[in-house]
Amino acid sequence: MDLSGKITLVTGAASGIGLAIAQRYASAGAKVAIADLKMDAAEAAAAAINAERPGAAMAVAMDVTDEDQVNAGVAAVVAAWGTVDVLVSNAGIQIVNPIEQFAFADWKKMLAIHLDGAFLTTKAVIPHMYAQGSGAILYMGSVHSTLASPLKSAYVTAKHGLMGLARTVANEGGPKGVRTNVICPGFVRTPLVDKQIPEQAKELGISEEDVVKKVMLGQTVDGEFTTVDDVAELALFFAGFPSNALTGQSLVASHGWSMR
Ligand code: NAD
Repeated sequence: MDLSGKITLVTGAASGIGLAIAQRYASAGAKVAIADLKMDAAEAAAAAINAERPGAAMAVAMDVTDEDQVNAGVAAVVAAWGTVDVLVSNAGIQIVNPIEQFAFADWKKMLAIHLDGAFLTTKAVIPHMYAQGSGAILYMGSVHSTLASPLKSAYVTAKHGLMGLARTVANEGGPKGVRTNVICPGFVRTPLVDKQIPEQAKELGISEEDVVKKVMLGQTVDGEFTTVDDVAELALFFAGFPSNALTGQSLVASHGWSMR
């Protein structure tokens, strides 16, 4: 897939999966805006890409839960590069707790980052896509977009919600050339996952080794983590797909966990 000349915006791109997608998009010829809360890390990621491909990356300060920041960030990309052809709404966090102990503030924070973030970034980029009659929007779902695990009420709810948003935007955007799809990775070893290993061990009363082997990888076909590069390849495929034939869909990359 070739993204030459495409303007792409990836949220949560200073780390983990988003960073790998930004790097892959740049290597496929795109310009990539690295939007993140962590501006130092976003600047460092952009500088590393620009060192290899001058002018290919810019860092954008953005809290995806804040409408003004989202709008200002998208406006900065459009001012620099003219439009947004591809949005990857990827920023996310994880908070695990049994529901009876799940703080309401944590629930709202989770839904704000995953769902408000997807809504606000979509709303900000889509007028530019409609104006040019084309665009691709990707939401970072999860195997938890279609199945549930204990301790993850807010995450599972949010990741299921993204499927509804993707299908709705696919319906609205289709006649105007805008496609939406959801990427659904299994466990990927990023800071988001590293943080929850000790937390899950404590809540489930098992060792950290068993969290990895049984909870995270127990239902894979080969006991392997999915990698950030695996997810980046899928993100490239969805972004570069040439027609509306592929819209409103989701694809699981999980070493066989959650086969359908
Ligand atoms: P990560 O912690 O490595 O990266 C997340 C990035 O999002 C960070 O750079 C962080 O600063 C940024 N971020 C957090 N809140 C933000 C906000 N309000 N505004 C802007 N940026 C914000 O995590 P990751 O594992 O790369 O996760 C990325 C996405 O992939 C998330 O949506 C996550 O739910 C999803 N996902 C992860 C896995 C996994 O196993 N790691 C599996 C399936 C889906």
